[in-house]
Amino acid sequence: MTAGVVIVGGGVIGTSLAFQLAARGVRDILLLERATLAAGGTGYSVGIIRQLYPTREARQMVKRSLGVFQRFADAVGGDAGFVACGALIGVAPAMRTALEAVVAEQRGVGIRAEILEPSEAGRVEPRIDPAGLGAVLWEPESGYGDPTAVATCYAHAARRLGVRIEQGLAVTSIATAGDRVTGVVTARGDRIEAPIVVNAAGLWARALARTAGVDLPIVVGRHPVFVVERDPSFGRPHVVYLDLAGGAYVRPETGNLTLTGSLTDDEARHPVDPERLGAGVPLDEAEPALERTSRAVPALAQARYRRGWVGAFDITPDWMPILDESPLEGLWIAAGMSGHGFKLAPAVGEHLAALLTGAAPPVDPAPFRLARFVSRAAAGTFLASYLR
Ligand SMILES: Cc1cc2nc3c(=O)[nH]c(=O)nc-3n(C[C@H](O)[C@H](O)[C@H](O)COP(=O)(O)OP(=O)(O)OC[C@H]3O[C@@H](n4cnc5c(N)ncnc54)[C@H](O)[C@@H]3O)c2cc1C
Repeated sequence: MTAGVVIVGGGVIGTSLAFQLAARGVRDILLLERATLAAGGTGYSVGIIRQLYPTREARQMVKRSLGVFQRFADAVGGDAGFVACGALIGVAPAMRTALEAVVAEQRGVGIRAEILEPSEAGRVEPRIDPAGLGAVLWEPESGYGDPTAVATCYAHAARRLGVRIEQGLAVTSIATAGDRVTGVVTARGDRIEAPIVVNAAGLWARALARTAGVDLPIVVGRHPVFVVERDPSFGRPHVVYLDLAGGAYVRPETGNLTLTGSLTDDEARHPVDPERLGAGVPLDEAEPALERTSRAVPALAQARYRRGWVGAFDITPDWMPILDESPLEGLWIAAGMSGHGFKLAPAVGEHLAALLTGAAPPVDPAPFRLARFVSRAAAGTFLASYLR
């Protein structure tokens, strides 16, 4: 069997790329997914779309992606579940100056954002507690979407353009000859010859790259998610709120549910086996996280705990994706999404499709090159995300 391009991984990144490549006229694309579409990190994602990023290129990417989410039915087809409820991001007084600088940069790339005094934040969302905050960022166009729906819509759109998608078929190794890729070997034991293979295997990307002798500086870090049911007295759904000072986030879901989790842990310091994805989380782990949630949004103290699951991020040392050809010719990497992959997926697909077809990518590719981690020190230093 042969293919022009094999994409490994049917998450939001692999499917977005399949669509973007096909839309550029690339033919003979085969996407292989070991389980089902969105079975990886995509299916366990919280799906927040916020636009606060420390680098210009990441801001440009999220702005481009937001544009796609805003007109998803026309741009891709189907419903992304995008809810533009707006996002508030509270920071400690010591972070205010850094926040002001980032907001000026956000505006420079066309992002709508303003800094509110903590006492003013109640005009947007009266249920957050502003105590201890030094400033609150308001992004009125941000919100959240449905990652599984987005991956599925991309897959449908890709199929309409002729992409073949095989689910339930794992790639066991990447086939090479000398210093170039020649295809993949599947769990069926057959070999698919292809001059281009894209590793979009998410949490499994490092292991997959290793089969071709390529080492990716990616750590799989644990990020549990907790679901609570809001008391009917809570009223209308809240906005997305990230309390960077107190270390909690909340995003509403249908059925009076709220997804919440911790922003205090550095996930890179909590490695986890990706096979644990989706496992249950003990209540004693949920309790401290839910306490922080209640401090951020006191009315959620009345909410009932429903469930928790083990989530995980594929984290690079600078918390930015690797979007590049590997040292092995023909092996491309679209991994290391570092917990941002949902909101960046439209732009990531667009970016890599441009690179693969020899076109100029819309955003400077340099910050996403694998070579940025060339020194051992750079490959081993994991920074915290957000403002840094
Ligand atoms: C708990 C949690 C919360 C998150 N919250 C947010 C958020 O609020 N906002 C945001 O923007 N992002 C968020 N993210 C991150 C975002 O969801 C991910 O970065 C994104 O979904 C990753 O997509 P992906 O396609 O790279 O990887 P995945 O979704 O993991 O897809 C990779 C696919 O590859 C398949 N695969 C792996 N190995 C093989 C193989 N050898 N052969 C064939 N197939 C293979 C897997 O089965 C999987 O389906 C969150 C993630 C998690 C887990």
